[in-house]
Amino acid sequence: MSTSKNINRTNLSPKDALDLLVQGNKRFIENKQQDKNLSEMREALKNNQQPFAAILGCSDSRVAPELIFDQTLGDIFSVRLAGNVACRKAIGSLEYSCKYLGSKIIVVMGHSNCGAVKAACDNFEEGNITEIIKLLQPAVSEETTTLDPERNSKNSEFVSNVCFLNVKKQIQNIINQSDILRDLLDKKQIGIIGGVYNLSSGQVEFDLLGSTF
Ligand SMILES: [Zn+2]
Repeated sequence: MSTSKNINRTNLSPKDALDLLVQGNKRFIENKQQDKNLSEMREALKNNQQPFAAILGCSDSRVAPELIFDQTLGDIFSVRLAGNVACRKAIGSLEYSCKYLGSKIIVVMGHSNCGAVKAACDNFEEGNITEIIKLLQPAVSEETTTLDPERNSKNSEFVSNVCFLNVKKQIQNIINQSDILRDLLDKKQIGIIGGVYNLSSGQVEFDLLGSTF
């Protein structure tokens, strides 16, 4: 039986919600995932949902939040766009999740070797992909430790630096552009934190990034 039904979602603090994600990520890394009865959860959730976390992550096929945090149906309100960019529609989705579904934490999650970040590092432009790259450019500009001609996607340190800076920039975008979320943050009803998922180890690193905790 899934343990997710046992979470007291209404009384959960933002820190409690973060702890649930950290514990789930540990289970994923150790390949000790909880048993999940998906038909039972589907039935239990058919009329309502109260996802405890809202995650703005990359669309990358290897970074599915429910899997890497070992959660099940109804646990995570998942907003995914290449490069985990906080465009207004993404911010609107996060507002809905926190204000109307009761999510206690927002995680902005980048990941290692992100194709969107690498494309931004190379100033890639094509079709509507350009729109996403534009939203990643501020992080590229903010990375000032790498000098030409090393500022490209072949430089893994540069790519990693931009990935971390991008998570911070997207958190700033969310806070700057959302009265609703700023209000919930001020009241300590929600928290927001950045994370970077390592494709190789499976670990989400939270501690190097800005947060409201
Ligand atoms: Zn990515």
